[in-house]
Amino acid sequence: MNDLHNLGVAELAALLQKKAVSAVELATRLLARLGGNPHQAFLSLDSEVTLAQARAADARIASGERSPLLGVPIAHKDIFVTQDFPTTAGSRMLEGYRSPFNATVVQRLGDAGMVTLGKLSCDEFAMGSANENVAVPAAKPQAVTNPWDIRRVPGGSSGGSAAAVAARLTPAATGTDTGGSIRQPAAFCGITGIKPTYGRASRYGMVAFASSLDQAGPMARSAEDCALLLSALCGPDPDRDSTSLDVPAEDFSLGLDRSLQGLRIGVPQEWWGNGMPCDWFPDMPVRRSEGLDASVQTAIEAALREYVRLGARLVPISLPRTELAIPVYYIIAPAEASSNLSRFDGVKFGHRAQHYADLADMYRKTRSEGFGEEVQRRIMIGTYVLSHGYYDAYYLQAQKIRRMIADDFQQAFEVCDLIAGPVAPTVAWTLGEHNDDPVANYLADIFTLPASLAGLPGMSLPVGFGAGGLPVGLQLIGPHLQEARLLNAAHRFQQATDWHLRRPPEV
Ligand code: GLN
Repeated sequence: MNDLHNLGVAELAALLQKKAVSAVELATRLLARLGGNPHQAFLSLDSEVTLAQARAADARIASGERSPLLGVPIAHKDIFVTQDFPTTAGSRMLEGYRSPFNATVVQRLGDAGMVTLGKLSCDEFAMGSANENVAVPAAKPQAVTNPWDIRRVPGGSSGGSAAAVAARLTPAATGTDTGGSIRQPAAFCGITGIKPTYGRASRYGMVAFASSLDQAGPMARSAEDCALLLSALCGPDPDRDSTSLDVPAEDFSLGLDRSLQGLRIGVPQEWWGNGMPCDWFPDMPVRRSEGLDASVQTAIEAALREYVRLGARLVPISLPRTELAIPVYYIIAPAEASSNLSRFDGVKFGHRAQHYADLADMYRKTRSEGFGEEVQRRIMIGTYVLSHGYYDAYYLQAQKIRRMIADDFQQAFEVCDLIAGPVAPTVAWTLGEHNDDPVANYLADIFTLPASLAGLPGMSLPVGFGAGGLPVGLQLIGPHLQEARLLNAAHRFQQATDWHLRRPPEV
């Protein structure tokens, strides 16, 4: 079995249960592939910890325990706090930090018997769309590269997670999605990822960026694998996260095979850059707006045609406030971030400036040294929009429009069961391409932000290749708590196609 690294979660679990391979063997094989840190995907490794966890999993298997994730390796985005590995959130502010406890998501996957390979690179405090904002190790921070083309970004902020799964360094990873950070890197790297409904997964121990938006979710190679992971990581956590929903954990693997006959897929007119194919909706006026890359559009169109072959029906819908999602998100997320990040003051934990004159100077220097440019930009914006005199004009206004965006979805779901469209307007861009233009990154979030603002579940699955031979992801968005419907739709697609099995060169 030389290609263990090419197997997914479900396949590995089956081998482990049959004792065809041990957790220790598997972990050892994967660790051996991490030498030299391919794609700079990992921020920390500790083979002793990994192997100890693998031995514990083997002991549970030997004692006859049957659990679908027992002994399967995983790696965690470095935004989840972990007892056994350092946690940086990609920031100098937390370099060297060790948490005294595990994030609930990490704990649950660990309890299910998953073996942690290490921690994965991410944009600093999950702010970014390219994994270029990573600021650690402070001595030499390195952007993560896209396994399909190392001159390209892997997407962000869960770029390390996406690159590691795509490069077959780990069968699965955790990610977090505040405005698209699971879906967009999954799309850029040709893997499958799902952001559940806001509140499905506990945020306890996830370093906070924007608390009303942050959500954890799995990134893997197939919908089937994502379903296994999601079933384990979701569930109420009332004592630790008051926003976690009081909805019992579900087994998302159960309904994967349901037929798609009659499924109504909503296609938002506003998302269709160069006009929707007129044979779909002959009566609809063709809308033209710039932005959606033609090669991405072609791949999305082909995917929708596949869904029609599978029995689904396409329904035109309208999400008229899509464009407003960008200004609304880039007010609300920084506002919440400015408040969340106030805890990094050099006193309780994390970085502290070495030389300072007085307390105010200590705060100033600590935060200037510890936070990178994008984080400081957002703290400034957030503080501004929350300040007296601007609160009503910006923050309050943004909250009102957020509500309207959520209402638009609710209306759309009266005529469709799920919504499909692109994840991002383009394929992965070139490293450094947006360096002097943070707004270019913000604009690329146009298709992922609306579902985030509405707290809806969303996923990305690979549906083809666009410009430069780079992967394209299809986004599926469902009504609240309808993750099972998304996973079912994605799984049926993956049974009929093989895009999710394609591997980057040299893997
Ligand atoms: N790209 C978005 C941002 O920079 C989303 C990030 C995220 O989902 N964590 O804020």
